Amino acid sequence: MTRYDVFIVGTRCAGAALAMLLARNGCRVLAADRAQFPTDTISTHFLWPRTTSFLAKWDLLDKLSATGCPAIHRVTADYGAVSISGRPSPVDGTGIMYCPRRTILDLLLVEAARAAGAEIREATTFRELIWQNDRVVGARVQARDGKFLEERATIVVGADGLWSPVARAAGAITDINCGSLTCGYYAYWGGVPTDGVEFYVRHGRDILVFPTHDGLTCIWAGRSHDDWDLYRANVENTYREIISLAPSLAERLGSTRQMSPFKGTSKLPNFYRQSFGRGWVLVGDAAYHRDPLAGMGIGDAFWALSFSRTRSQTALRETRRVLMHHWRVTNPPSAKKRFRSSNTR
Ligand SMILES: Cc1cc2nc3c(=O)[nH]c(=O)nc-3n(C[C@H](O)[C@H](O)[C@H](O)COP(=O)(O)OP(=O)(O)OC[C@H]3O[C@@H](n4cnc5c(N)ncnc54)[C@H](O)[C@@H]3O)c2cc1C
Repeated sequence: MTRYDVFIVGTRCAGAALAMLLARNGCRVLAADRAQFPTDTISTHFLWPRTTSFLAKWDLLDKLSATGCPAIHRVTADYGAVSISGRPSPVDGTGIMYCPRRTILDLLLVEAARAAGAEIREATTFRELIWQNDRVVGARVQARDGKFLEERATIVVGADGLWSPVARAAGAITDINCGSLTCGYYAYWGGVPTDGVEFYVRHGRDILVFPTHDGLTCIWAGRSHDDWDLYRANVENTYREIISLAPSLAERLGSTRQMSPFKGTSKLPNFYRQSFGRGWVLVGDAAYHRDPLAGMGIGDAFWALSFSRTRSQTALRETRRVLMHHWRVTNPPSAKKRFRSSNTR
């Protein structure tokens, strides 16, 4: 049986990017996802310069641009009485922004991880952790043919999103939890005249406008979480009502066509989870989830994984460094102190 340095569960922004970085640094990486790529997920699309700067460092930004994703040069934040419009400062020399479809961005990352030498298995579902002497030493997974397999690894990483089955199996506690504060629906529209990304913030409402692939514009209309039942009882009317709070946008939408059904969610919690124990680690949304209003989730996942491109003495030392870096940036000092004293597994 192959023994891997790292087994990663989940291969989207956090998992595929980590698999790519570790494989580029010489680690033996296995990564598995229950999904088959390309496949969509509930998410809008904004990549700030902070996010695109990582894609540039990883030599993936040109590839993203080659998919036909329109470059974004302007961001407008409209608060009703005040509207601010401009171009965010470049980060590490990268100022360009994009709003890629997740079908395209996630596939790009999966392909980059494969090209770096990581073994990626699709349609493979994590079922449970394998423990030995109170330490995780691998995981049991179910392949697409229904067969169960055991995979052994020095570290098992949960990059398996908000509801992280790995976190549950490891008994990770949620350290700080503010619940969900907002909810909303989005849809794709054809032929909306836009000049970049637009944010509209109103009392208890928000509207986000993201020009994406294929001439489509993804438009999110959000409300306070308390309004969820009201919203889902009449999605179309509530969505239109929110959009009417930005008259210039409502006018532009008037002559365009809705090109997709509405997709929505009220499950947007804000939390930090305990993100490592003996032989296991959590990255991306599994470790730290925040309201998507500011469009930071993908960038946060990349940022927490970032590390020097210098080749390390040993692959495992590098792995440990990446994962400890992730721990430091996703956990506030108060949580760190508590974990140190409670020493959970
Ligand atoms: C409505 C909405 C809008 C958003 N808009 C933006 C935005 O504009 N910009 C931005 O930067 N971020 C945005 N985000 C946040 C962003 O989508 C997330 O932060 C990002 O997807 C986190 O990536 P991840 O890899 O950690 O998790 P995920 O993308 O959730 O990936 C987890 C993967 O784990 C897999 N998985 C789960 N369980 C198992 C299992 N048992 N076995 C195998 N595989 C498993 C899943 O199939 C999935 O592919 C938005 C989020 C939402 C909900």
